[in-house]
Amino acid sequence: MESSRPNAQWSAILDVVRSHVSGQRFQTWFQPVRVLDLKSDHLVLEVPNPFFADWFEEHNVPLVVDAFRELGCPSAPKIRLTVSDSYYEQSQNLLTAPATAARPAAAPAGGNGWSHNLYARFVFDNFVVGKANEFSNAAAHAVAQDPGMVYNPLFIYGGTGLGKTHLMQAIGHAVLAKNPNAKVYYGSSEKFMNSMIQAITAGQTIDFRKKYRNLDLLLLDDIHFLSGREATQEEFFHTFNALRDARKQIVVTSDRPPRDIPRIEERLVSRFNSGLVTDIKPPDLETRVAILKANAKRDGSTVPEPVLFLVAEQIQSNIRELEGCLMRLSALSRLMHAPITLDLALEVLSVYARPDETTIGVDLIQRLVARIYEVSVESLRGKKRTSDIAFARQVAMYLTKQLTALTLVDIGKSFGNRDHSTVLYAIRKISDGRKLHPDLDKRIEELTGELRNAGGRRRIERRPPSDPGSQPLWS
Ligand code: ADP
Ligand code: MG
Repeated sequence: MESSRPNAQWSAILDVVRSHVSGQRFQTWFQPVRVLDLKSDHLVLEVPNPFFADWFEEHNVPLVVDAFRELGCPSAPKIRLTVSDSYYEQSQNLLTAPATAARPAAAPAGGNGWSHNLYARFVFDNFVVGKANEFSNAAAHAVAQDPGMVYNPLFIYGGTGLGKTHLMQAIGHAVLAKNPNAKVYYGSSEKFMNSMIQAITAGQTIDFRKKYRNLDLLLLDDIHFLSGREATQEEFFHTFNALRDARKQIVVTSDRPPRDIPRIEERLVSRFNSGLVTDIKPPDLETRVAILKANAKRDGSTVPEPVLFLVAEQIQSNIRELEGCLMRLSALSRLMHAPITLDLALEVLSVYARPDETTIGVDLIQRLVARIYEVSVESLRGKKRTSDIAFARQVAMYLTKQLTALTLVDIGKSFGNRDHSTVLYAIRKISDGRKLHPDLDKRIEELTGELRNAGGRRRIERRPPSDPGSQPLWS
């Protein structure tokens, strides 16, 4: 039963939501939702299908909650999603339909029309093998050699940035190299879920199934994403069976072994364990250096051996970060027209060592320093060099270097477009000054504490407190 009141309130909520999201997002996620009941303490929304519910819960319910607050409700009602009856009526047979019910999809013309989604760079040739990944690498080669025949599924797990996606895609490339007509498809589990939702919403479930169940090789990345998403797991289970029964290869990755994925159906766990489960561990120092070397070579940059070792020693558990650090290093060296030296590397590495990098920003520092030294924020960012402004600016630059992830060049830009040597000079001056003047030292200590607090608080609070008495210093 819908009365007009809940709808009027819901419209108001929708207006707020609409002002925060793109038109496309609004149309996709809010247009199909119907409000069934809205009281001060609960709200029941009807959504078209279970996949939609999964997604909406995670990504859009928080927006609705915020909208209630924005409209002045002290606490948002409890939100419950319910799937429309018509979904179950229409799709009763669909979800359990045997794979054979779907006719084979039209073969892509000569393999060309098929979009496999593989990155060109993720091939075996670019994959450096070391102790930490040799077993997974061997398994991947075996699968690529004989897809569907040896290890099916191949389940690769390991921490982020350790090469799971790379290795999985390398299988795809190798299979395509042998047989360009092979129907290879790479996608994240999230994409799988989204396509499923779209297919259901658009009434194209059959096409969706045709696409996935007629592949020769399915590479499904980050399967742990399906944790708790029962409807998507159900769909994947049928896809899985269809492919494996047809001796088509399935490769999945995850951040942990099958049994440790929370809220995943037992039957999926046992399917995963029936193939080969292998892991990738963080690489050892030699492998990290080898990866950096390979990268530098591809990039055409000359990086001295000691720098490679320094970087490889500092960044141990994530190859993506390792590569990122090297990229930054060569970008910076080009920007500064300076060779890649140990000093430069130390500068870049400091970025990776700062735990506070995301919480304290240069704006916050400038505002606090301006307030304490009684100058304006604009003057800190400006060109004036009167002694009081210049000193406050140096303090702010120093604090920015200490507390944020910004490089000297970035800091210079935030303070009136000064160059990195000016920033370096400021940092030295304040750092020497601290040793000589206990007052300055104490003040910097206090400012640092204040900023750390502010940074921490900002991370927790999503909006400023409404009580003006408790307004924090930086607002
Ligand atoms: P994951 O999927 O495990 O999070 P990726 O496969 O995306 O990690 O790898 C992150 C980055 O590290 C990619 O750029 C990839 O090419 C690179 N990488 C990972 N492992 C290796 C390796 N053994 N050799 C060369 N590059 C690697
Ligand atoms: Mg990945």
